[in-house]
Amino acid sequence: MNAAPDPAASAQGVDAAPVTAPLGAPLSAPVTQDVHTIPRRLPEGGRPDLAGMTRDEMRAALLAAGTPEAQVKMRTGQLWQWVYHWGVRDFDAMTNLARDYRALLAAHFDIGRPELVTRQISADGTRKYLVRIAGGHEVEVVYIPEEDRGTLCVSSQVGCTLTCSFCHTGTQKLVRNLTAAEIVGQVMLVRDDLGEWPVPGAPRDETRLLSNVVLMGMGEPLYNFEAVRDAMRVVMDGEGIALSRRRITLSTSGVVPEIARAATEIGCHLAVSFHATTDAVRDVLVPINRKWNIAALLAALRDYPRLSNSERITFEYVMLDGVNDSDEDARRLVRLIRGIPAKINLIPFNEWPGAPYRRSPRDRIAAFADIIYKAGYASPVRTPRGEDIMAACGQLKSATERARRARAAPQGDAAGA
Ligand code: SAH
Ligand code: SF4
Repeated sequence: MNAAPDPAASAQGVDAAPVTAPLGAPLSAPVTQDVHTIPRRLPEGGRPDLAGMTRDEMRAALLAAGTPEAQVKMRTGQLWQWVYHWGVRDFDAMTNLARDYRALLAAHFDIGRPELVTRQISADGTRKYLVRIAGGHEVEVVYIPEEDRGTLCVSSQVGCTLTCSFCHTGTQKLVRNLTAAEIVGQVMLVRDDLGEWPVPGAPRDETRLLSNVVLMGMGEPLYNFEAVRDAMRVVMDGEGIALSRRRITLSTSGVVPEIARAATEIGCHLAVSFHATTDAVRDVLVPINRKWNIAALLAALRDYPRLSNSERITFEYVMLDGVNDSDEDARRLVRLIRGIPAKINLIPFNEWPGAPYRRSPRDRIAAFADIIYKAGYASPVRTPRGEDIMAACGQLKSATERARRARAAPQGDAAGA
């Protein structure tokens, strides 16, 4: 198994867009740009897409399209609400804008969504969407309805640079990072599907179908930091989709140098893929541990609640039969995290074809949970959701690849692929 890659090298293989001008700007225009507002690549042959833009990008785009400087702040505010609060995609519906200005916008911009390839609905109501993004790449997005909430599991990369040995996504090489717009687009697409945009004039229903976002789909979010941060800022913006930062959870395998940044620049809830209580075992399960070991990870986690003003950290712990599930592991886990406000989320291993592990038996998981509970920590066991459509944690590669192979293969050939 390879050692974890250097963060600086994580951009390798990433589709680095050679765009240097604000969206919609003539290429000769003077450019002001910092790493936080790198304009997105224009859709090939198409117009820039307002859906997915940050406020800075939208402002720059409206200016470049001819909006007078004196009006651009107000126009950005109006467009922001149409796009992100009302979910409107038709410029003609933007009734507080003059007809001429609507025509100008329609001539310069699209309001789009990532392309939906397939949608599967599990017997338990879980919805899995296969979404196509620029370059023909595909990512999966999973919506999990529960009694008191609806959680959307979004992807941040196509594939993953890391190679956690129990994770199916980890067997797929990193293809590219998603842009902020592509991450926001996943949320907007699912709000479309759930019919969740407010209706003008109707009383606002505060019980949301899509009430929580977890960055637990494909990819390591902290290796695509700027895009994830910008996307979450759009999703959290109070004049748009307006999900509270407490309803967003970012899961990391342990990219230690980015954890403090996540606290101060995003401020959402943090989950960490802990999965082992000794460096020897974690080196194998989560190979990034060879770069930043358990002690380094715990040191970064201790600071997170204070820096982000959040309550506690979720420790994710996948239950692998005979590997990390002993009573001794449970006791060591409790000792290690002492002093960190925490919840421990036990995840029964979700098997995938060719996986080198088995799920711990039910009574082993219960005994492990009991030790943690008696030490004073909440220790919910995550119920696998959407297993019948391969939508559960760590299964998010196979269906994509199967679908791609089935489409690529001549009829009758798919089984041999
Ligand atoms: N890359 C990030 C987020 C995506 S994975 C991370 O590693 O944290 C979301 C969670 O699912 C992680 O805790 C991951 O370790 C876990 N996971 C991956 N494969 C799994 C599998 N086959 N069964 C159960 N959980 C799995
Ligand atoms: Fe990547 Fe997370 Fe899977 Fe590890 S568990 S390979 S970091 S997606």
